[in-house]
Amino acid sequence: MTAMVKAEGVHKAYGAVQVLKGIDLEVQTGEVFCLIGPSGSGKSTFLRCINHLEKINAGRLYVDGELVGYRQKGDKLYELKDSEVAQQRRDIGMVFQRFNLFPHMTAAENVMEAPIQVKGVSKSQARERAHELLTKVGLGDKAGNYPSQLSGGQQQRVAIARALAMEPKLMLFDEPTSALDPELVGDVLDVMRDLAESGMTMVVVTHEMGFAREVGDSVVFMDGGVVVESGNPREVLTNPQHERTQAFLSKVL
Ligand code: ADP
Ligand code: MG
Repeated sequence: MTAMVKAEGVHKAYGAVQVLKGIDLEVQTGEVFCLIGPSGSGKSTFLRCINHLEKINAGRLYVDGELVGYRQKGDKLYELKDSEVAQQRRDIGMVFQRFNLFPHMTAAENVMEAPIQVKGVSKSQARERAHELLTKVGLGDKAGNYPSQLSGGQQQRVAIARALAMEPKLMLFDEPTSALDPELVGDVLDVMRDLAESGMTMVVVTHEMGFAREVGDSVVFMDGGVVVESGNPREVLTNPQHERTQAFLSKVL
């Protein structure tokens, strides 16, 4: 079986600053893969590379067996055309720390937008699907609300529904609960847990160690642009082998 995400020696620099220094990892299809590590370790950068928001400088990055952003012929890599990049991107959903909803659109309109614009789905079909998805994230009664009329947790659940509307094969979450008041975190994690149970492949950057332990199939601890330690969350989080992992966990647990 092909891994959903495969990174081989992935490097990324911003100018002279090396941020990713050779990331090797595999995310299996259907698994919940948690990425943890201190601020500045390169977690967001790695997700952004998977989702074509950044280009890697060296190594190989594959999603579902395809090179991200490139085609390989012999030893040479050729950049994909914009239309081909767009084709790869539409299969990947991403949820950010800041929900980034369109403020002038209702919850339902936010969820309908991409299927209509990108996939050419009819408005009535998109609306029906939006209502299904909003119901799934517990917001069936908020379809007509604007983002400003929703709590942070509700906005984040709309953002999840919006990403799901494109029927992605991979969902990326970048600290989806970090900007939320503590009492709103649980509802968002519950939605993510349901999604995990439905079999979605998920890469989750999080500081919620309870979620990583209970829902995660794998965890990777990153520090300084490298993978320090990885494995089963119950093992890594309770019995970390590396000093840097121990130091990090002693601060967040
Ligand atoms: P994390 O998500 O683990 O906190 P990031 O991937 O956001 O880490 O950042 C890793 C490093 O890359 C940080 O030192 C950050 O300052 C740097 N960085 C991130 N984005 C940029 C950028 N667009 N330009 C320059 N440096 C960046
Ligand atoms: Mg980050």
